[in-house]
Amino acid sequence: MTKFEALGLQKSLLDAITDMGFETPSEVQEKAIPILLESETDLVALAQTGTGKTAAFGFPLIQKIDSNSRTTQGLILSPTRELCLQITKEMQAYSKYERNINVVAIYGGASITDQARQIKKGAQIIVATPGRMKDMISRRLVDISNIDYCVLDEADEMLNMGFMEDIKDILSGTPNEKSTWLFSATMPREVATIAKKFMHSPQEITVGAKNSGASTVQHEYYVVGGRDRYPALKRLADTNPDIFSVIFCRTKRDTQKVAESLIEDGYNAGALHGDLSQNQRDLVMNSFRKRQIQMLVATDVAARGIDVDDITHVINYQLPDEIETYTHRSGRTGRAGKSGISMVIITRSEQRKIKAIENKINQKFIAKQIPSGIEICEIQLYHLANKIKDTKINEDVDGYLPAINDVLEGIDREELIKKIVSVEFTRFSNYYNKSKDLNSSDSGRNRERSDDGGDNRRGGEIPTSGAVRYFVNVGERDGYDWMTLKDFIRDTVGLGQEDVFKVDVKESFSFFNTEAEVTQQILEKFTEFKVDGRFVNVEVSKNPGGGGGNRRSGGSGFGGGYKGKRSSGGRRRDDDRGGRGKKEGSSESKGRRRDRSESSSPNSGKRRSTKRKGDFF
Ligand code: ADP
Ligand code: MG
Repeated sequence: MTKFEALGLQKSLLDAITDMGFETPSEVQEKAIPILLESETDLVALAQTGTGKTAAFGFPLIQKIDSNSRTTQGLILSPTRELCLQITKEMQAYSKYERNINVVAIYGGASITDQARQIKKGAQIIVATPGRMKDMISRRLVDISNIDYCVLDEADEMLNMGFMEDIKDILSGTPNEKSTWLFSATMPREVATIAKKFMHSPQEITVGAKNSGASTVQHEYYVVGGRDRYPALKRLADTNPDIFSVIFCRTKRDTQKVAESLIEDGYNAGALHGDLSQNQRDLVMNSFRKRQIQMLVATDVAARGIDVDDITHVINYQLPDEIETYTHRSGRTGRAGKSGISMVIITRSEQRKIKAIENKINQKFIAKQIPSGIEICEIQLYHLANKIKDTKINEDVDGYLPAINDVLEGIDREELIKKIVSVEFTRFSNYYNKSKDLNSSDSGRNRERSDDGGDNRRGGEIPTSGAVRYFVNVGERDGYDWMTLKDFIRDTVGLGQEDVFKVDVKESFSFFNTEAEVTQQILEKFTEFKVDGRFVNVEVSKNPGGGGGNRRSGGSGFGGGYKGKRSSGGRRRDDDRGGRGKKEGSSESKGRRRDRSESSSPNSGKRRSTKRKGDFF
């Protein structure tokens, strides 16, 4: 008797297992399979990535399905299209000796009609991404009202990607008596919430240490000139409009100065260091917890007690002396199963320190480029467009509408959109108009510039040589990460393995590069191209370079969970951009800055004494 047989698996599965070359069950399989086979129970299983979770639920699920019935009996939810396809493939391999079992994948980025047709033929098991699943339920293309089993695979990842609401909606349409099996690498609060809300006294199995999220933090460094640290910091913030971060400085003095400069420049920033009274520190921490402060500038000592989850970025404004300290700093993000980014701003002479840190943390840094002014303008523009789209309408404006309509009469939709967007965009574009490249000259790769200076959006000239950067209006919220987006573009256009590069996925949009030879092809393919009934629009980006290498998930991509929470909080930086982008010293902008910083920063009393920015940066 093989070890798999001892777990209680039937012959057809054992044969498939032999074909796949599995010899011994992994730990999570050994623990989960007997439980799931022997009882009708809810289960929470925590095990690291790569430990064979798919088979841990896949084998029992197939064994329990009634293949004589065509009804959909099992639903597997998984975060991405990639995983969805992978699980489906595995399930098909497991069930190859099981006649009449149909496993169908449902995911965005492919024809919904085709998928509906497959379902109609009878799918006992559906593997789906939450977004597309919800879509199909609402169109009555699937029926999950009789399922016996629901698997939430990579639950932490799904919730990370903002699928909480979708999952709740989907589960609400399933029978109460079904069994729910939750598989996850980590157990953040949100996963625990789901378990509590939707599961009935689940059995729990854990493989390895709980919550060991070692690689949830991505490390990046940016090489700039010594005097450019502060402008570089601002650009990093501007590239990530939803940033919720701790910025580390070496001294109390620098901490205070950086915070004050940020406040003066219109950011929601605050300082945390030992020269503040306990009361002041409490105030700052409260504002930070409420997200009224997006950028908390702190010394290492003062930051020790910060117990805030959901921090999207740690920024090392200066590197610490001790490598050990870096580990503490970066550990402020990527907590509770979330991913996070630790950024380091360094000068050329400090570059060797990166190596030393890499050795210590056993993880590689990604060399990245401070984004150009054009890139920031673009990001802000799309962020703004999305903000307008997502803004909840305030019914109080109703009373003013007739008057507003009078004022705006005769302006058509297109012009109105242009005007609305310009209100904020012009500030950024004026500010960054002639901004210089902050990247230290011989660091990193050379940025390729197209020769016309860059104004080559669709309708303009299409570049014919060199690398071309594109903007695409899908991002993390559509379920993409850089790998899946790369695949999606490659597959859609029919390009080769290496043709799409520098994919940078933001929350609701992304960038990528190709060589100019395929630009025509890309633009043609993505003309009037729809996914899930929504236009996927690709345009040549004004920004030629692209901020850096591929990465798994982008900075602003944490918006999902974080945005909602913040809306209850105080003012948002971007609600009041008055001071930004204006020329230094314009009396209007100064006046506005003072207003807001005094009302939103506990440091305003100190601010007056440190107005001489040039002295410090
Ligand atoms: P997880 O979901 O835990 O990240 P997967 O289920 O994707 O892990 O499995 C990771 C890899 O290990 C897959 O390629 C899978 O085929 C393989 N695998 C799973 N179980 C076994 C086993 N018992 N023996 C050998 N390989 C296995
Ligand atoms: Mg898995």
